[in-house]
Amino acid sequence: MLDKIDFSHEDEISKEELVSRYKNYDPDGDTTLLEKAYDFATEAHLPQKRSSGEPYIIHPRNVAATLIKLKMDLDCICAGLLHDVVEDCEVCEEEIAREFNPVITQIVVGCTKISKIKFRSKEETQAENFRKMVVAMAKDLRVIIVKLADRMHNMRTLQYVSKTKQVNKAQETLDIYVPLASRLGINSVKLELEDLCLRFLHPDIYYRLAEKIAMKKKDRDRYIKETVSLIKEKLQEYGVQGNIRGRSKHFYSIYKKMLQRGVGFEQVTDLLAFRVIVDNITDCYKCLGIIHSAWTPVPGRFKDYIAIPKANNYQSLHTTVLGPEAERIEIQIRTREMHEVAETGVAAHWKYKERSRNQKATDIRWVEELLEFNKSMKDNSDFMHAVKNDLDFHGVFVFTPKGDVFELRSGASVLDFAYTIHTEVGHHCVGAKINGKMVPMKHRLKSGDSVSILTSKTQEPSKDWLKIVKTTRARTKIKQWLLKIERKRQREIGEKILEEGIKKYDSSLKTLIKKNEFAKVFDEFHIKNMNELYIHLGSKKLTLMQVLGNLPSIDVASPKVDLKEVGSLYKKVNSRAKKTSRHDNAVIVDGLDDVLVRMGKCCNPIPGDSIVGFITRGRGVTIHTSNCQTVFQSEGSRRVSVGWNKSYSFKHPVNIRVVTHDKPGTLSLMSKNINNMGVNIRTAIAKSLPDQKGSFFFEVEVKDYSELLRVLGMLEGMEEVITVTRA
Ligand code: MN
Repeated sequence: MLDKIDFSHEDEISKEELVSRYKNYDPDGDTTLLEKAYDFATEAHLPQKRSSGEPYIIHPRNVAATLIKLKMDLDCICAGLLHDVVEDCEVCEEEIAREFNPVITQIVVGCTKISKIKFRSKEETQAENFRKMVVAMAKDLRVIIVKLADRMHNMRTLQYVSKTKQVNKAQETLDIYVPLASRLGINSVKLELEDLCLRFLHPDIYYRLAEKIAMKKKDRDRYIKETVSLIKEKLQEYGVQGNIRGRSKHFYSIYKKMLQRGVGFEQVTDLLAFRVIVDNITDCYKCLGIIHSAWTPVPGRFKDYIAIPKANNYQSLHTTVLGPEAERIEIQIRTREMHEVAETGVAAHWKYKERSRNQKATDIRWVEELLEFNKSMKDNSDFMHAVKNDLDFHGVFVFTPKGDVFELRSGASVLDFAYTIHTEVGHHCVGAKINGKMVPMKHRLKSGDSVSILTSKTQEPSKDWLKIVKTTRARTKIKQWLLKIERKRQREIGEKILEEGIKKYDSSLKTLIKKNEFAKVFDEFHIKNMNELYIHLGSKKLTLMQVLGNLPSIDVASPKVDLKEVGSLYKKVNSRAKKTSRHDNAVIVDGLDDVLVRMGKCCNPIPGDSIVGFITRGRGVTIHTSNCQTVFQSEGSRRVSVGWNKSYSFKHPVNIRVVTHDKPGTLSLMSKNINNMGVNIRTAIAKSLPDQKGSFFFEVEVKDYSELLRVLGMLEGMEEVITVTRA
């Protein structure tokens, strides 16, 4: 257990062998499904051969063996055996679902989907998006773990494919899978994959390193042996029990050092690494003290990942010292549990869950937290969801027809995507083709969709589009366009008003402009040019009299024509707004004027929600959200079509529940932020939860759905906040 996991390719792994390896860590597990998956995969892959000429089934068996080395659960191992049957054999999803269980099916389907992604990672940002896409598409993190095991075996047998394929696969592994393994904290897999990538991407460097390290092998083995027993002695002097291993560093880490320092192999001095595994955290620091007093530490090389764990939960003490014979050696010190976590990362979760049933909980903070966390959740998928949230991959990842990947926020529509590509594409968007099917522009995107936007020259944005889009970029672009149109209209109206107004004094706009009569108006109202003046007039920021009064050649007291006529033009400006504000209700009911409207208490709809109305006996019309249970249960004949009254402004109460880390001042900070958005808080209730968490309940007044979204988004964005829900 304390040694590095050996992921070497194995020629033959029998069913009994796999079962017995699994039983090593789960003696009571029921391996019926595992045996069935073994036979099923063997049968399905029967006629197939790998590039190496071996029977194909060797591949899934090795993948399963790797998953067992990571101590994964039975479902995951079964999925490992079956991961290629949908893609490569003529087995359909339904057959897997029939023969096995939903979890296994979902993992196999997830693997198949990810296999179909064509990676093109020319740029770093694209690689990042591909990684996120893999996570977003894997509904269960075990899909990624199976993909890692799959990749591990493919990389280990890469010598049998063409040179071009070797380089492509290795680069893809380095760009996509190594960072995923790292983020999930599965170090054993990460280090192994890195070395394999180096071997195929830079074979010259890899084999030179291998040769040089091999040349010194005898010396090195002696040195490691002596140093291990020396450390052991020193620890024993102070009564510390430790398990010590020494090894040469991974090639890839030597290679990285050479690149970082711009030096050759000869100048990289610290090639050896030692690992001390002790019983508890106190012993970790004790051990560090003993080592630092025995050998001189190299300045700047000490790192305390116990006090400050890495983002992937890795914990350990790292130091480099001038060891025996003044050789630079790196030493890592950690507890047994930290070591298991370091080797298997997220995968350790399943293992610890198994163990916690019969064994005492470990003393590792994060494992405990994980277990604690898991207890409070319904099932594994909730846990996975939480880990995914932690990975911060909320987005939707879609392809352009060219195969580039774009990330959009979840819930984004076709229209959002159109604006992501180009503003003009957005303005003229009429819909899209997704995976060959036509969809409307409000269609919500899913990760993995291949989207081709359809445009029309005559299409232009409208106010309704603001309800379709979720991204800030699209919203801003639509608003800018609407504003531009509005400005154009105001400008036209303003110019007309001024023209007509001046005519009443027997003069003309043209003449007055020529005579430069507007200088005083510009000065008085801080206006730059005529255009701006028209807009001010058209939008009623200035009245005609204010302008005329500042024109030298016009005497406002003696018009040639009655000014009242001009007034009618203003009415035109506002006629549109007036038309829509006829109703005093928040909701407009089709075909019914002046009807009493109430909001359903069950679903509490707010403007922007999709809604349905019900004619109630004696109570007018009740409004429900279209997905409200009441809607499904009631008779269709009483249903009426309703819509939100856009010009009606009102404040609607909504309940929000927030769970945060328990920090003083959190409530006042949240309240301040909500108020700063111009949103009123009616009620705020705070409660302390166990395990250092706080629960808050707010009743806020929002004017519509988009305002509510803004409030929810703001709260979600706060550092202290864990979850935000509309209650
Ligand atoms: Mn495979």
